[in-house]
Amino acid sequence: MSEFALDHINEVITAVAIKSGRNSADIKLIGVTKTMESEAIVRLVAEGVTSLGENRVQDFLPKYEALRPNEPEWHFIGHLQRNKVKFIIDKVAMIHSLDSLALANEINKRAEQVRKVMDVLIEVNIGDEESKHGVCPTKALGLAREILPLKNIRLQGLMCIAPFVENPEDNRQYFKNMRKLLVDINNCSPHNLRELSMGMSGDYAIAIEEGATMVRIGTALVR
Ligand SMILES: *Cc1c(COP(=O)(O)O)cnc(C)c1O
Repeated sequence: MSEFALDHINEVITAVAIKSGRNSADIKLIGVTKTMESEAIVRLVAEGVTSLGENRVQDFLPKYEALRPNEPEWHFIGHLQRNKVKFIIDKVAMIHSLDSLALANEINKRAEQVRKVMDVLIEVNIGDEESKHGVCPTKALGLAREILPLKNIRLQGLMCIAPFVENPEDNRQYFKNMRKLLVDINNCSPHNLRELSMGMSGDYAIAIEEGATMVRIGTALVR
């Protein structure tokens, strides 16, 4: 038996997708590896989880080196300081935590240096929580417009970390609001955003029902 609960997670993703009239191929599982050692991550990739998420630059870098022969697709999902962009720019496929124009400018500059167009998501503080990073929902459209001229950034969508709740149903409204915000940005700007990175171990089923295209799962991965 596998040390990971992948069969279960994939069954849930498929079942919820079908129930919601969606295609499970449109929902990407990002394995969040922040609590795992490199050896375990290698086994996770061998079991088919090829998209991985890390939230701290200093933890990510040694894991990136250790996993190199396996070539997973890395997603940077944590708060990102401007002075650390240069360490990850050529190593990650997507940055989920864009939350200021200053950070966007730095990502754009560093991406240009390595001749790359960096895929990013704007992190939205959807629950308006004091403790969380991300732009407040009313500022997301403005930031999306401001980064339009940046040639080495490609905005693909929005990300949120929903509030911690006992009952995951309580987060449904936040996920609905994320979807509305995505539609608003598409209607009010030249963007054609498609990605919604939302849903974690406790609430990914509800996030998928409300339109998540990427779920970031850590705790629930390990049996
Ligand atoms: C840790 C983390 C996750 C995964 O959380 P779990 O509840 O363990 O699934 C997802 N997103 C971000 C940004 C994280 O830091």
